[in-house]
Amino acid sequence: MSLDLKSFIAYVGKRNPNEPEFLQAVTEVTEDVIPYLNRHHPEWNDLKILERMVEPERVISFRINWLNDNNEVEVNRGYRVQMNSAIGPYKGGLRFSPTVNLSILKFLAFEQVFKNSLTGIPLGGGKGGADFDPKGKSDNEIMRFCQSFMTELFRHVGSETDVPAGDIGVGEREIGYLFGQYKRLQNAFTGVLTGKGKTWGGSNIRPEATGYGLLYFVKEILGHNGQQLDDKRVAISGAGNVAYFAAQKAIDQGATVITLSNSTGTLYDPEGFDGDKLDLLGTLGRDLHRYTETYPSAAFHSDKKPWSFPCDIALPCATQNELDAEDAALLVKQGCFLIAEGANMPSTAEAIHIFQEAKVHFAPGKAANAGGVAVSGLEMSQNWIGEQWTREEVDRKLQAIMARIHTTCVEYGQEDGKHVNYLKGANIGGFIKVASAMKAQGLV
Ligand code: GLU
Repeated sequence: MSLDLKSFIAYVGKRNPNEPEFLQAVTEVTEDVIPYLNRHHPEWNDLKILERMVEPERVISFRINWLNDNNEVEVNRGYRVQMNSAIGPYKGGLRFSPTVNLSILKFLAFEQVFKNSLTGIPLGGGKGGADFDPKGKSDNEIMRFCQSFMTELFRHVGSETDVPAGDIGVGEREIGYLFGQYKRLQNAFTGVLTGKGKTWGGSNIRPEATGYGLLYFVKEILGHNGQQLDDKRVAISGAGNVAYFAAQKAIDQGATVITLSNSTGTLYDPEGFDGDKLDLLGTLGRDLHRYTETYPSAAFHSDKKPWSFPCDIALPCATQNELDAEDAALLVKQGCFLIAEGANMPSTAEAIHIFQEAKVHFAPGKAANAGGVAVSGLEMSQNWIGEQWTREEVDRKLQAIMARIHTTCVEYGQEDGKHVNYLKGANIGGFIKVASAMKAQGLV
């Protein structure tokens, strides 16, 4: 049986009304996967592999009530989307943000399935979170919220069934409170979460992993084209973990990082950040603009995105759909030749189209930002065998994983000449493993 892309997208749209982000992620994958399926595995279509993949195995939605510092009751909505467990336990982060809804978590869980498959570690895909806004909350409020969240989630997760981690709004502090509550409820110290603190089961390099992995992937792309990072101008968006450690690694490797950003605007330093400057940024938190008090040659632009400043390499590390067609056109026009996504789906469909038309290198998040979940996988391995590997050991494994993902992308994404369609390579490379595992395990 042959699948028709347009009818398939229409089918998914009809089954999932008002879920634009989920439909966007499904379209981004199936544009590559359907032609591949029709050509190489039409028999998988008879098994409805793709129809099954776009239907989460389980979606859990629950109420979280908690007490704020004024002793008022607050109510939030929590979710866990258990998307696919064909190749391993569900794995994926938790996002706490007022923007969280089912469409966003389903798109993230869907992306996670392919990303996790690409890492080569046996991990299924999932995602969760809550429409809770951590901004402005006290430490005690965060703790009470996390405890309340886990009081419901604990019955659905486990070190061998579903292993959440952090994402936007969930870092080591939140993982700590969630872990403490899980341990209390289950009376068991297990690797049910990753991103734990280093003294209680966490892995070295986990906080740095997504940003470092992103730069290792960029290095692979450059190396494949006989280029290096030295002297390249790099624009980065975001000011969280991913952006910060991406900047640090880029600087270490000789690049000039000229921007970071948050929801209030973009910090542009034409001379580039260095170690001291990054240290200062680490202490400023959300007040990025205060950087210019110490470094007056820099400027804070509340009306501009990082993509308006000329660069060779663009690393969107903030959030979904932050880089649109206009930004993409401007980047290409100003000479940017490599875009690698540190965030999940930061480029809109139209922006990706522009990058692909221009034949610049475009590395999608599911490949380029897989370093985070890869080191989560390594954290799970360490928990199982009761060991803690050194920084050097984890870093070496991370580099090897990113190199392997690059090889997979080249294998399935190489087009005429040397040009690699990384999106196609990542989509097909991630898909094959999951699809064949689903076939092998029968109609379950
Ligand atoms: N939230 C991260 C991601 O988008 C990491 C997930 C994990 O470590 O499980 O891949």
